[in-house]
Amino acid sequence: LTAKIPINDILNRRAKAQQAQWGVAAPTSMDAFRINRQQQQEHKPKAKRWDHYLSHETTSRTGSALKDAAKWLGTPGIISLGGGLPSSEYFPFASLSIKVPQAPFFSEAATAQSGTLLTAGKHDLAEGLSIFDIATAFNYGQGSGAAQLLRWISEHTELVHEPGYADWACTMTVGSTAALDMLLRMFTRAGDVVVSEEYTFASAVDTMRPLGVRVAGVAVDAEGMLPAALDGLLEAWDPAAHAGARKPRVLYTVPSGQNPTGATQSGARRAALYAVCRKHDVIVFEDEPYYFLQMDPYSAGAEADTPAAAPASLAEFLDALVPSYLHLDTDGRVVRLDSFSKVLAPGTRIGWITGSEQIVGLFRKHADLCTQGPSGVSQLMVFKLLDEHWGHGGYLAWLMHLRAEYTARRNVILQAAEQHLPREVVQWTPPMAGMFFWMGLDWKRHPDAASKSVMEIEEQVFMRSIEHGVLVMRGSWFRADADSEMTSLFFRATFAAAPFDKIQEAIRRFGEAIRVEFGL
Ligand code: PMP
Repeated sequence: LTAKIPINDILNRRAKAQQAQWGVAAPTSMDAFRINRQQQQEHKPKAKRWDHYLSHETTSRTGSALKDAAKWLGTPGIISLGGGLPSSEYFPFASLSIKVPQAPFFSEAATAQSGTLLTAGKHDLAEGLSIFDIATAFNYGQGSGAAQLLRWISEHTELVHEPGYADWACTMTVGSTAALDMLLRMFTRAGDVVVSEEYTFASAVDTMRPLGVRVAGVAVDAEGMLPAALDGLLEAWDPAAHAGARKPRVLYTVPSGQNPTGATQSGARRAALYAVCRKHDVIVFEDEPYYFLQMDPYSAGAEADTPAAAPASLAEFLDALVPSYLHLDTDGRVVRLDSFSKVLAPGTRIGWITGSEQIVGLFRKHADLCTQGPSGVSQLMVFKLLDEHWGHGGYLAWLMHLRAEYTARRNVILQAAEQHLPREVVQWTPPMAGMFFWMGLDWKRHPDAASKSVMEIEEQVFMRSIEHGVLVMRGSWFRADADSEMTSLFFRATFAAAPFDKIQEAIRRFGEAIRVEFGL
């Protein structure tokens, strides 16, 4: 097994901050951290309740008496003839093995610290949980996810985000896509409008459409959504101007490495947007699959494929991340969506949400009768990796490693862009997180600008790119409000997966296609 990386530096730093803020001794070891987690919450405010916003679908959910009956399983000595769980002796699987990534990503600085972590088994027994093994994993589980994984995720959330109110909770999801669909059903009804960045994750818009929910796009700059634009839209909301829609109650935002623009909101930007949401009593869906892929600043001319220097410690790594909305939230108005898709593997289909106990509780009720939680096998695989092989420190070290990898990839695409894209018609801002590079083209300089629409020019440039052997995504596919007039021309390229030389060649081809199209 790879050595676990302790997180004492993170715990010590937090202990100091909590001592200063609340005058309480805070835990400095992982064991104490786990035991004291609940006690710390006493110092924080309680979440607001959202009964006034819940959809008819959500208030009509009665839950499942059968699922609830599981609580009796804890009765000492009870013999269960209750739930329809098959016996594990009939599961035709004997073992599960995972390839544990080798350890080059464990930086020396991080491994040099000392400390201990509990093993899963010991901790499970202390909490009265049965061991999370292959028999449990292959059987029916809970809608909220396997208890052990959920606990691990809650600890991770506390370590990374330190939510600002007491009664928050996490629940496992079948990725963020399913979670978003379920959350929308909780807080919207047909005819509603949700607010988001003017270009946004296409699947989010596609999820909303069949629910009868439309999106109002808010103007953005290099740091994402503009608080004044959001405030203006909400302040002046007139249902008559929006097909009768009531004032939006939900903001859907991708704060880091936004898909498709790559924009990352600064801490100040997040705080300002949160304040606007408070003012208008709006709930924030914080969709953050790229949170840990926040990168080092880009300096033009640097060696493209030189890996960035790793942060000296895990605490430094966490400090370098822009604080989340979940961290800023004192009301319980943020629902954070996390996913392993971009940091472990999308095929795990595991994510989680974090929000107030009320919201998470209602979400679980839905999950019980919808997904029944993510696959137990998948959860076991991930849990073994996170808890037994890595521990909290090892997982953070893995994320730190990914950050360096993506920084190098981002640098490669930026250098290729500097070399191959005609600056006179193409503009971009170096992404500071995620996996997307967003290019703005000055369509007015296209020879057909006077006679053709922006959409037609986009189509033309796109087809020309294909002809030149490169596939990039058309900006119009990400428009929040596809019915509004299209006045800008954008293309999205990802640097997530192609080998470095292919990224360079692809950008060269795209530059060539643009030159042909624009007659340069
Ligand atoms: N949200 C955003 C902003 C994304 O870019 C993606 C993946 N492209 C997802 C959610 C999907 O996440 P998951 O695989 O967890 O459903």
